[in-house]
Amino acid sequence: MNILTRKAMALLEKPLLKAGTVLAVRAWAPATFYEIDLHLPDTDMSNWQSVQHMKCKVAEATYRDYTPAGWDAETRTCTLYIDTAHDGAGSRWASSLAQNDTIYHVGIASALHKPVADHTLLCLGDSSSLGHFLALQQLAAPDAAITGAIAFTSQAHTHLFTEYFRLPLTALTATTAQQQQQLSAWLNRQNFPNNTTAYITGHIPTAQQLRRQLRQRKDMSGSIKVNGFWS
Ligand SMILES: Cc1cc2nc3c(=O)[nH]c(=O)nc-3n(C[C@H](O)[C@H](O)[C@H](O)COP(=O)(O)OP(=O)(O)OC[C@H]3O[C@@H](n4cnc5c(N)ncnc54)[C@H](O)[C@@H]3O)c2cc1C
Repeated sequence: MNILTRKAMALLEKPLLKAGTVLAVRAWAPATFYEIDLHLPDTDMSNWQSVQHMKCKVAEATYRDYTPAGWDAETRTCTLYIDTAHDGAGSRWASSLAQNDTIYHVGIASALHKPVADHTLLCLGDSSSLGHFLALQQLAAPDAAITGAIAFTSQAHTHLFTEYFRLPLTALTATTAQQQQQLSAWLNRQNFPNNTTAYITGHIPTAQQLRRQLRQRKDMSGSIKVNGFWS
């Protein structure tokens, strides 16, 4: 990008940028997955009725979407769960953050997924989906039935998820290339009750394949909601 384009971008984004503060950063071991607690003073979270996504500035003129989870409308805080096991601007940004850093975003909007009353929530995706599934759990009724599977690339991360999260999903360990097959095999082993709504997120080709697979199931009568994150 030349200097003129950079200056034009800076002028254009300036009125849109909103600031937040990093309250804490927790790296999972190995450090290829991060939990980032944020304070977003300009964000009214009290009316969030669906999963949200936040467009963060991760480098000059570069933005990535992340999913706020575990929000507290009173304190205007939330947590991002970010996979950094690959090389990318978003990965580099997330793994560089430290307590008291200022972050910038250009807005938070609905990702259009929300729980359906009296339906079982079926969640399927890779680790980039953790925030999305936690947000669905937060929005669901306390007694809502939740099932599904989430695939991590590290066995240690699978253990951490199982030990520390009260999200009733089966944690799978598989390389990125094997995740589609693992999630698909998990799906084949399940029976679904009436009134199940599926939420499939993460790697786009995997999400599309899982949707095709679910559509062929006679016991899947509810809707199948897909939100592809990366390819
Ligand atoms: C609505 C929405 C919500 C999202 N929420 C989250 C979230 O909560 N947490 C989160 O981690 N991501 C989330 N994402 C994905 C995120 O926006 C970025 O696409 C992702 O982090 C990759 O950005 P990057 O700059 O690190 O890599 P890029 O520069 O975009 O990609 C670099 C390389 O890494 C590969 N890659 C990208 N992501 C992954 C991955 N997760 N695993 C393995 N390889 C990958 C790409 O295929 C590419 O080859 C969301 C995306 C959308 C659209």
